[in-house]
Amino acid sequence: MKPCAFQFYTPQTLEDALEALWEFTEEGLSVKVLAGGQSLMPVLNMRLATPDVLIDLNGLENVLNFIIPDNDHVRVGALTRHYQLEASPLISRHVPIITEAERLIGHVAIRSRGTIGGSLAHADPSAELPLVASLLNASVTLRSKIETRTIPAAEFFLAYLMTSLEPTEILTEVTIPTLPGRSGQSIQEFALRHGDFAIAVAGAQVTVDENSCVANARLALGGVGPTPLDMSAGLELLIGTQPQLEDIGRLVKAICQDLEPDGDIHADSAYRKDLAETLSTRALATALQKSRNK
Ligand SMILES: Cc1cc2nc3c(=O)[nH]c(=O)nc-3n(C[C@H](O)[C@H](O)[C@H](O)COP(=O)(O)OP(=O)(O)OC[C@H]3O[C@@H](n4cnc5c(N)ncnc54)[C@H](O)[C@@H]3O)c2cc1C
Repeated sequence: MKPCAFQFYTPQTLEDALEALWEFTEEGLSVKVLAGGQSLMPVLNMRLATPDVLIDLNGLENVLNFIIPDNDHVRVGALTRHYQLEASPLISRHVPIITEAERLIGHVAIRSRGTIGGSLAHADPSAELPLVASLLNASVTLRSKIETRTIPAAEFFLAYLMTSLEPTEILTEVTIPTLPGRSGQSIQEFALRHGDFAIAVAGAQVTVDENSCVANARLALGGVGPTPLDMSAGLELLIGTQPQLEDIGRLVKAICQDLEPDGDIHADSAYRKDLAETLSTRALATALQKSRNK
C-alpha cells in the first residue's frame, strides 16, 4: 500500500521545526515528525497512521546529530543514527551496553538510517534502546516552541508505543549515565532470526566493591510488558555478596514471579516469562563477570 497524501515540510533549523509543529497542531492538523523513517514509513504505508503533515527532521543534522561526553554522562542528539552509536569509540568506552545493543538492532541498512530519537519516541517495548535507557535511568530532553523539559526514561515510556511526548514536542537529546568504575553491563536477547525484534530482552549493570562483592545491581526487561520494565527492586539481596550463577538464577526467578507477559503468534505468555528469567540470569551473570575484570 501507499501512504495517504500529506504535506511535506523540510525545516532547516530547529526553531523553524518547532514553530511549524506548533502552528500545524494549533490548526488542528495531525502532524508526525520524520527521523530515519524505519518505523514511521511502514506505519504510513500500511495506513496505520494518516497524518496531514510530515515534518522531516533530516535537515537538522547539524544540531541534532552529536555524541558529547559531559562529566559522568554522555549526551546524544536525537538524530544520531544507530550505526554512529555502534561505531563510536566514546560510546564503547563509556556506555558499552549501547555498542552491544546496536549490533542487535535490525540490519545494516536499518541502522544506517534509524536514529536514537526515533527509537525512543516509537517506544516499542521489545526495542533495545528503550530498554537501555530504562536500565541506565537515562533522561530525554523534549522541546516545544515554548518549553524545554528533561524527564527520566521512567516517566517517558507510558504504554505500548506511547510516550509522554506532547504533539507539539520534539525529542532533541538523550542524556545517558556513563559506566561507573568496577562495573559491567550486558544485554541478552532472544529473537527468532538475527535482526528481528526481540521476543524478550534483558539488560543488566553490576558494580562491585574492592573485595569483588556486589555494590549495586540493576536489571531491566523488554518484550514482556507494555513498556521496558525496571526489575531492579529485589536485587538489593545481592549487595555485599559474591553470588554464584545458581544464586542469581534463584533470585531472578523470585523477582520475575509476578510477570504476566501477553502472548502472541511468536511466543505464548509462559514462554516469554521463561525467556525473561533465563535472559535476566545471563545478563546479570555476564555483567558481574565483566565488573570483576575491570
Ligand atoms: C526490518 C526492520 C527491523 C527492525 N529491527 C529492529 C530491532 O531489532 N530493534 C529495534 O530497536 N528496532 C528495530 N527496527 C526499528 C529501527 O530501529 C528504527 O530505526 C527505530 O525504531 C525508529 O527510528 P527512526 O529514526 O527510523 O524513526 P522514524 O521511523 O522516523 O519515527 C518513528 C516514530 O518516532 C517519531 N519520532 C522520530 N524522531 C522523533 C523525535 N526526534 N522527536 C519526536 N518524535 C520522533 C516519529 O514521528 C514516529 O512516530 C527495525 C526496523 C525495520 C524496518
